[in-house]
Amino acid sequence: MRPKKRLFLGLLLFVLVLLFSLAYSIWGLVFAQLGRVYREFFLLLDLGLGVAIPLLALGLLGIVVMILLQRPWPVLSRFSKSTMDFLFPLALLLGRMFRLDKERIESSFIELNNQLVRLTGGHVSPRRILILLPHCLQLSQCQRRITYQAANCRRCGKCNVGEILSLADEFGAEVAVATGGTAARQAVRDKRPVAVVAVACERDLSSGIHESGKLPVMGVPNQRPNGPCRDTVVSPAAIRRALESLVNGGTI
Ligand code: SF4
Repeated sequence: MRPKKRLFLGLLLFVLVLLFSLAYSIWGLVFAQLGRVYREFFLLLDLGLGVAIPLLALGLLGIVVMILLQRPWPVLSRFSKSTMDFLFPLALLLGRMFRLDKERIESSFIELNNQLVRLTGGHVSPRRILILLPHCLQLSQCQRRITYQAANCRRCGKCNVGEILSLADEFGAEVAVATGGTAARQAVRDKRPVAVVAVACERDLSSGIHESGKLPVMGVPNQRPNGPCRDTVVSPAAIRRALESLVNGGTI
């Protein structure tokens, strides 16, 4: 297990322990009859936590077992993504309290998500895969309107877009270039993919994966040698690996 995944897994476990401690403390307070007015509210809260905590623990167990065994565990895998999505904001909050680097936590979340998608989301038809690119990948001096139509790129080789379009042609996958989160969501609604390979910064990728629900999304973080949102770059080899994982399954 690479250290990056461990960070987010550790935070998930810590959040779960905190939730359990909270439920236990509330239980004690209810029985100590801390104010009758609040008693029913706390009792309901504790009941909610009493249902949620075992489900979240099951999801976390599923994640750990699947990663250790390197194979999907169908009974528990359905809880895994929900557990990650539910606990993600709490893990970020906890990370902030401990002054952990937010980008490291987001990278860890993306890495863990990718691992689970590789294990559970393989054998997708390449034609049902959407490669979602951020507009900042396009060379800032380029005049081609690729957000309207990615095929407008003339593949001059001055940025990664042309190479990724050739990769998409090779696999038969679709490509969309989005100017932001709203445009990315619209592209997913229009193209109706079965799986997505998304390129973006760690912040946009983690929030996109968090919002994607059941749609499998493989996240490929871009590099920002010119600062954020300008002339960014990405490794086409990493996109190829993500496509191969979705098409062939397994941990390529
Ligand atoms: S590959 Fe060339 S034509 Fe295509 S977006 Fe990049 S700079 Fe523009």
